[in-house]
Amino acid sequence: MADDGIVEVNPLFARPGETAVADRFRIPAGSMLPETAYQIVHDEIMLDGNSRLNLATFVGTWMDPYASKLYADAFDKNMIDKDEYPQTAAIEDRCWKMLAELWNAPDPAGTVGTSTVGSSEACMLAGLALKRRWQHARRAAGKPADKPNLVMSSAVQVVWEKFCNYWDVEPRYVPITEDHTCLDGHDLASYVDENTIGVVAILGVTYTGVYEPVREIAAALDALQRDTGLDVPLHVDGASGAMIAPFLQPDLVWDFRLERVHSINTSGHKYGLVYPGLGWVVWRSADLLPEDLVFRVSYLGGDMPTFALNFSRPGAQVLLQYYQFLRQGRAGYRAVQKASHDVARFLAEGVGAMDAFELWNDGSDIPVFAWRQKAGHTGNWSLYDLSERLRLKGWQVPAYPLPDDLADLTVQRVVVRNGLGMDLARSLLDDIRHAVGFLDGLSAPMPSEGRVSGFHH
Ligand SMILES: *Cc1c(COP(=O)(O)O)cnc(C)c1O
Repeated sequence: MADDGIVEVNPLFARPGETAVADRFRIPAGSMLPETAYQIVHDEIMLDGNSRLNLATFVGTWMDPYASKLYADAFDKNMIDKDEYPQTAAIEDRCWKMLAELWNAPDPAGTVGTSTVGSSEACMLAGLALKRRWQHARRAAGKPADKPNLVMSSAVQVVWEKFCNYWDVEPRYVPITEDHTCLDGHDLASYVDENTIGVVAILGVTYTGVYEPVREIAAALDALQRDTGLDVPLHVDGASGAMIAPFLQPDLVWDFRLERVHSINTSGHKYGLVYPGLGWVVWRSADLLPEDLVFRVSYLGGDMPTFALNFSRPGAQVLLQYYQFLRQGRAGYRAVQKASHDVARFLAEGVGAMDAFELWNDGSDIPVFAWRQKAGHTGNWSLYDLSERLRLKGWQVPAYPLPDDLADLTVQRVVVRNGLGMDLARSLLDDIRHAVGFLDGLSAPMPSEGRVSGFHH
């Protein structure tokens, strides 16, 4: 930050002849020894939080040593160079086909999909496909195609707001309420019209971890079609849940078993168990992805279709995903996700049993749960204060307001990922109890200035 007026960084080393200071905001005129540069960067990031104690993020913070080895083997691969790296390209193909099958596509061979840098890019692509298909249909029918809208919960992840902003689509948010805590199909018909390019259902709402009932939403759209003739497609944002439900709730019908579900995205770097930088999107059949969005890259004399916002991007994450699919198999994924689930349920039960709190949800969908302060517990502290107390122990447990129409309600959330074992979970519960004891003992309210809300998408 520039505001402290300090522009120089002191390296740890003070060997004679060594660069002793480096400018923070200007590329130095001369060179320095690699170990000095390394030490400077290494030391700067010491003050970052410990990623394993970061219970705010959904993104993978642990992989096994073979994954690290494979990562190092493949740092240099550029995903777009399909002709130089035809094997990496073939492996990308295998991965989304595996996902199509995992998500019960009726004809996995007829699906189409791609890897992306994350769910955000995947959602943008899925949204663009919805928009373009709608435009084609409208133009073919001789109707105006200039006022597209997208219907979704007010609790969508920020990428959907971005999508609507960047691609000129009107967002129509269905507010969450105490009675309808997520998009559940209720009153959907009053949001959808002939300009609706699609409806987004979230499998694993980012704020709380609950599954939106995709089957009920699809049924509401079926009823709408019977009544009005409007055939509105459904996209499932399964950034987290699409890699949980197939293993832990195989009977939950949310995926391509529902004909209305046109496309599904997930984050390979969330419960796909890969390090940051990977997402996936799959369409139930090739015709749902308009041809005019697809670019052709020639490769090995053949041709390779690409649909992406980025050009160059790392290929290593795709190989790590394939490694995980092979290494874990379905049994391994089930075991890993179940372990996270067990820890989440254990923690939720512990937090729910404390006088100060009331669970918002209990971690039975994805291994994520949230709680609020019980009304009238004590006015002397809030969940933001608890968040700060936990930070003293190294834990990052964000508190934040819910979206509209529950913006007056503050919740605190824990995301359990691979790597948060029962032992750590017990320590966390102890630390929460301790912090609550401390806060309850206060005789006056905690000062509230300078508070930062720590919502992590
Ligand atoms: C995390 C998340 C996203 C964004 O995914 P990235 O992989 O971080 O780009 C989108 N939607 C939902 C529901 C999410 O949880």
